[in-house]
Amino acid sequence: MRTHRCGELTAADAGSSVTLCGWVHTRRDHGGVTFIDLRDRSGLVQVVFSPEISLAAHAAAEELRGEFCVQVQGSVAARRSGTVNPRLATGEVEVAAHELTVFSRAETPPFQVDGHGEIEETLRLRYRYLDLRREHMRDNMLLRHKIISAIRRFFDAEGFVEIETPMLTRSTPEGARDYLVPSRVHPGDFYALPQSPQLFKQLFMVSGLDRYYQIVKCFRDEDLRADRQPEFTQLDMEMSFVDIADVLDVTERMFKFVWREALGVALDDFVRMTYGESMERFGVDKPDTRFGMELTDLGDVFAGTEARVFRAALDDGGAVKCVTLAGRADMGRKDLDALVDEAKSLGAGGLVWAGVTAEGIRSPVDKFFSDDERAGLVKVAGAEEGDLILIVADGDPGVVYKVLGALRNRLADRHGLIPERAKSDPEAWKFVWITDFPWFEYNEAEGRWDPIHHPFTGVVEATKDYLETDPGRVVSKAYDITLNGWELASGSIRIHDRVMQERVLSALGISDEEAQARFGFLLNAFRYGAPPHGGIAPGIDRIVALAAGESNIREVIAFPKTQSATDPLTGAPAPVDDAQLKLLHLRSTAPAPPEN
Ligand code: ASP
Repeated sequence: MRTHRCGELTAADAGSSVTLCGWVHTRRDHGGVTFIDLRDRSGLVQVVFSPEISLAAHAAAEELRGEFCVQVQGSVAARRSGTVNPRLATGEVEVAAHELTVFSRAETPPFQVDGHGEIEETLRLRYRYLDLRREHMRDNMLLRHKIISAIRRFFDAEGFVEIETPMLTRSTPEGARDYLVPSRVHPGDFYALPQSPQLFKQLFMVSGLDRYYQIVKCFRDEDLRADRQPEFTQLDMEMSFVDIADVLDVTERMFKFVWREALGVALDDFVRMTYGESMERFGVDKPDTRFGMELTDLGDVFAGTEARVFRAALDDGGAVKCVTLAGRADMGRKDLDALVDEAKSLGAGGLVWAGVTAEGIRSPVDKFFSDDERAGLVKVAGAEEGDLILIVADGDPGVVYKVLGALRNRLADRHGLIPERAKSDPEAWKFVWITDFPWFEYNEAEGRWDPIHHPFTGVVEATKDYLETDPGRVVSKAYDITLNGWELASGSIRIHDRVMQERVLSALGISDEEAQARFGFLLNAFRYGAPPHGGIAPGIDRIVALAAGESNIREVIAFPKTQSATDPLTGAPAPVDDAQLKLLHLRSTAPAPPEN
């Protein structure tokens, strides 16, 4: 039906006859001549309907309106100088139309497909097929394809095989709530949609498949945020006979390949940082290293202090730390009070601010500081005249990290501390490997130890005997990749020894019976010659969002769910009728919808 794509025509095509198909992007009438911009996936080209070229086509163009779907036959002509449009890739040419076929008319769309303004998101999602016609969404979808295609080419070349794992399965181990699917043939039983293919990919290693990957949907019934969706896509991979360095090496080369193919950027080597270092310097385990303002420890400066809050925190085995906001010593009282409130809402008991001025320190607690402490504070914080030091003290060092880590990111945003860089600049992409995570974290609410990664994560040999005595000191063989403050991937070298796996499960308080019931198939597989293995699972939606410069993953997912896990397009989730429920041996306890 067509000979060319709209966006591909260039001056070199002048004189040739073409047939184009697409949508009317815009239409203008000018001196008895009708101009349209015709759009397809590749871009726009101007089409001219003039009575001098074809009376019939010109007359037919009368009825054209935005978003009509049409076919145009015509000849390509170079535009006269002065009418060249440098903002359009095809701006040097236009198509003189000889014939027009209207495939379908269009009603006035609920929002402008050619506009750039903000459109309410629910409306966009309800008419997603129109939203996807818009340039930036089309670009995001094409970028997503480019990235996934580059990933597949990379893994193919490295000898990985792509194999699917089941969607209807048992609850899997990532620790979130499951989406369940009732079984019709087994009354009262449910499948769970996979939170990840974790156990299956480990079984592939036991089966000798050696190197596996899959671009796969995963499901987690969690509270949603900008970087989370109930269903999301992972690049899941696993390899045998490897240690940490091998997985890091393949994964890093994969990211470099993808960035080169999809964005044309030659990435620098990724920085490697232990979890401990990341917490000390940035307060978080996904550090944004595009700007400084690192956390500084003030424990030595205030070791002998009489200032009450600092004294109490240090005596409790806690920490006193600060970040320094350059050039803001003159911040007004209202803004400072707001910062204190913000720190409190993040969990701090309070926030001590100290402005470094020519006259000395400006701070509500200055009178409690000794001269040595004043001098030490400025020196250790690396502050200069005009800077604002923000100090948090707490008996629990975790609180200090959490509050200063969050403030550091928010202040950088608010005060524009993150340098604007072109996507082509390698400095725009701060990839960091985080390693040496603790294996366990204590769950206060439940009074038990939980895995920071998942229960199949390997244990660093030298720390394995703490499993029974002091779980908090066990170090895991897990690693994360972070990019510009986002977690992009988690992975680990796994346990492949059955006895070791059972020790870990028992440290988690999982009884033998429960372990057998939930993961017995994996434990049994370990009886038959399991190789050392490990892998990782980068989140595709986050990768594409960052590569596209979007701050929300919904912008790079064709049909995402809203913040409340609904789909305005299809109306999912939706009630089903009683007959269907009955077949599935279910009865709803939800209140009936109001009659109308
Ligand atoms: N299954 C893990 C996850 O989804 C990733 C991995 O350990 O490979 O986070």
